[in-house]
Amino acid sequence: MSMIDDVIAKVKEKDKDQPEFIQAVEEVLTTLKPTEEKHPEFVKAKIYERIVEPERVVMFKVVWEDDKGEIHVNRGYRVQFNGAIGPYKGGLRFHPTVNLGIIKFLGFEQIFKNALTTLPMGGGKGGSDFNPKGKSDREVMRFCYAFMQELYRHIGPDTDVPAGDIGVGAREIGFLYGMYKKIVNEHTGVLTGKAFEYGGSLIRPEATGYGLVYFTSEMLASEGMTLEGKTVAISGAGNVAQHAAQKVNQLGGKVITLSDSNGTVVDMDGIKGEKWDFVMELKNVRRGRIREYAEKYNVPYYEGKSVWDVIRDEGLKVDIALPCATQNEIHKDHAEALVKAGVKAVAEGANMPSTLEAIKVYQENGILYGPAKAANAGGVAVSGLEMSQNSLRLQWTREEVDNKLREIMRKIYKQSVEAAEAYGKPGDLLTGANIAGFLKVAKAMLAYGVM
Ligand code: NDP
Repeated sequence: MSMIDDVIAKVKEKDKDQPEFIQAVEEVLTTLKPTEEKHPEFVKAKIYERIVEPERVVMFKVVWEDDKGEIHVNRGYRVQFNGAIGPYKGGLRFHPTVNLGIIKFLGFEQIFKNALTTLPMGGGKGGSDFNPKGKSDREVMRFCYAFMQELYRHIGPDTDVPAGDIGVGAREIGFLYGMYKKIVNEHTGVLTGKAFEYGGSLIRPEATGYGLVYFTSEMLASEGMTLEGKTVAISGAGNVAQHAAQKVNQLGGKVITLSDSNGTVVDMDGIKGEKWDFVMELKNVRRGRIREYAEKYNVPYYEGKSVWDVIRDEGLKVDIALPCATQNEIHKDHAEALVKAGVKAVAEGANMPSTLEAIKVYQENGILYGPAKAANAGGVAVSGLEMSQNSLRLQWTREEVDNKLREIMRKIYKQSVEAAEAYGKPGDLLTGANIAGFLKVAKAMLAYGVM
């Protein structure tokens, strides 16, 4: 058994109640095996054992009152996973499925993703099992205030800088930042994803989706292809999905699917122009269900099915798949259906949307595969740029931020390709991204000595 297998086995034993965290550790560490031989200094310093252990886990209760005066108790989390190369950085997720294992998996992945962006950011993640769905704006406000009344003491612009994730968008960041500012009496870059008026960066809302599509374009270019004329399946209908769709449209592709946790719509004419505006209003203003799109535009709606179920069951032809909803949405049978559908590239907007078995199917069938921590790093990259702008007390133009984002996505792609080649896995972006991110963090950890 290799040393890395031993570390994985120990995590499986210690954290057996955290399947998503175990999955993430197994995915990353397995691909790090080529570093074991080349870097005996990492083995000796037990970097692999140290990197799977969070530096700090904060769990707290969040007590709030609904509109009827009833009291609710939720659980809040912040996992400060690794601060070797910069302040902890990573989003907050508000979703009923949130538990410690989910936050640890997200925080662990964030370490490598943040390192890849070329910016100085450590890895962290947080959230709550609070379900914002069906809550009034004032209930969400009271929850966010209560959440921040505890979180504020653990974060800071040079310590830990949270952002949004599932269930945490512009509205929630406004409430959270407002309460932070009130408690500490300071205007600082302690949260990213802020609105432009109070210190946010232009292009931050768009960044994950745009970055995903820039990364996809790099992957396609390596085989002499572009997005022009390609049919694209996107899952989700939230922040990442919306802006991925917008950028695909701008680059001449055709988006034929969107979904939410209730079902999937298929529009073979493309979700663009006025139809895309409708989705923005539906999801961000009215907070309605994607079914309404099918009703308005008279297109098929598949209740209870994911985009990948629909592709499998209806035999749709698709060139590119961009999963942008949630973890483990693409299973082995879905991946096999994507092969049959003629998919040339899968790039992950969501975190860990493909199971390990699904990834294997992509790899065995020559599908270009852009792993989440490289492909969706545009969001945290622009968060890093928001931190820089806050420190400088400046706000850059859309063009400046977009150009920087495009350049960062190019560099992430290049680093991943080069690391894959240098460590004997040419063309394997999963291995390349993991190794490139790991090397930066491991070298910093080594420099600090034993701590
Ligand atoms: P949003 O909350 O804006 O949207 C999430 C979308 O996915 C919604 O359409 C939601 O449907 C759907 N969804 C969520 N959970 C499930 C589920 N269990 N089953 C089926 N559908 C589900 O989140 P984001 O767009 O911000 O995030 C999407 C993914 O991208 C996540 O994996 C996130 O971690 C990742 N990501 C986000 C970044 C960002 O900048 N926002 C950065 C990097 C990664 P419904 O409304 O019905 O819940």
